[in-house]
Amino acid sequence: HADVVILGAGQAGLQAALSLREEGFAGTIQMIGDEAALPYQRPPLSKGFLLGQVGEEALELRPQAMLDKLDIRLATGVAGTGIDRAARRLALSDGSACGYGHLILATGSRVRLWSGAGADLAGIAYLRTLDDARALGPRLEAARDVVVIGAGFIGLEFAAVAAKRGKRVHVLEAADRVMARAVTPAISAFFRERHEIAGVEFRFGAKLAGITGRDGQVAGVELDGDEHLPADLVLVGIGGIPNAELAAAAGLAVENGVVVDEMMATADPHVSAIGDCCSHPNVFAGSRIRLESVQNAIDQGRTIAARLAGKPQPYRAVPWFWSDQGDLKLQMAGFTNGADHQVTIGAMDEARFSLLSFRGGALVGIESVNRPADNMLARRILALPQPVTLAASEAAGHDLKALAM
Ligand code: FAD
Repeated sequence: HADVVILGAGQAGLQAALSLREEGFAGTIQMIGDEAALPYQRPPLSKGFLLGQVGEEALELRPQAMLDKLDIRLATGVAGTGIDRAARRLALSDGSACGYGHLILATGSRVRLWSGAGADLAGIAYLRTLDDARALGPRLEAARDVVVIGAGFIGLEFAAVAAKRGKRVHVLEAADRVMARAVTPAISAFFRERHEIAGVEFRFGAKLAGITGRDGQVAGVELDGDEHLPADLVLVGIGGIPNAELAAAAGLAVENGVVVDEMMATADPHVSAIGDCCSHPNVFAGSRIRLESVQNAIDQGRTIAARLAGKPQPYRAVPWFWSDQGDLKLQMAGFTNGADHQVTIGAMDEARFSLLSFRGGALVGIESVNRPADNMLARRILALPQPVTLAASEAAGHDLKALAM
């Protein structure tokens, strides 16, 4: 038994534990994670780690000694297998069970698998865990023709790494532009061009008929219309699925993630959910959404810790995200969907600029490329109690420093 049991020892779960101690929570904390490693950062897995620039030690979020010092207990290599809400007990994969005063679900998300023709072939890769990335390194080294399915963040980051390592890279995307769900068309166009200059070839509106093989090994992909692209490595990056099955089986509401309110609370006062696995009402989106970002995992970890320590504060953090693709650092703050007016500051031709997006006369998001200081200011500006209007931004010459004051 522990006062707080945290299921899932990733970015969000660890943050909740650390923040509980920072808030002065004196009860027992038990983290349970099904991976073997200590909690680690995933972002470098598709970037510096694959390029050999970031070693495994650098991925670790906190050393074991620090967890010991804070009296945060961690069981690795053990999965939660069932939640008995009436008895307040979590069943574990080793046959034991753990009672809880409060249960925090921080189980993250997993990759969506390619389920069409050729799904069982060797040479199809996914990128979510340290184990995935460890296995991918040597396979990328050995590959010549790489096909990436999906032009989302992970697909593009991987494509940039593969191109840099001299591979022939094709990216297949069903939509008509890259990162279509997350960035504005201007950013999509800019990144597409930069990737193409680096040697990446795109197929938009691509309809994948199947992955083809030879002797059980990937040999290529088949596109509708009978086109065949050779490949000895296929990286599938078609999105994530929340790990919410345990919550659903325990009778908790699940709607693209475990349903929580602004306090990260489920309908059960003894169960909360944070990070990739939950869907929450988001003031910036104006709707319920599920986010997959480090910012969201950290801020929701802080939110639940503050509540359990008796200092409740609703989750109202400005959403922000980054993605490193080749020598481009993309950072976004706010949500730009439905933007009807854009202003560029900086120099797009030098790959150092920011795009301010307005909707209905209010600033809703800022996308920056290689301008990290703009992202810091953007987060401050979007956190202001009153939205910045287009008129105010114009009057300030779109100077972010002035707007942030
Ligand atoms: P996770 O960190 O995934 O942790 C959840 C943990 O719970 C996992 O270890 C999982 O195995 C475990 N678990 C699941 N079910 C159970 C169970 N039943 N029992 C026990 N344990 C369980 N975000 C950014 O903001 N910027 C980036 O550049 C960026 N790059 C990324 C690159 C890659 C390759 C990936 C995969 C993600 C990236 N992200 C990035 C997203 C970011 O890493 C995630 O949003 C973040 O890790 C979410 O934290 P989490 O704690 O919710 O989930």
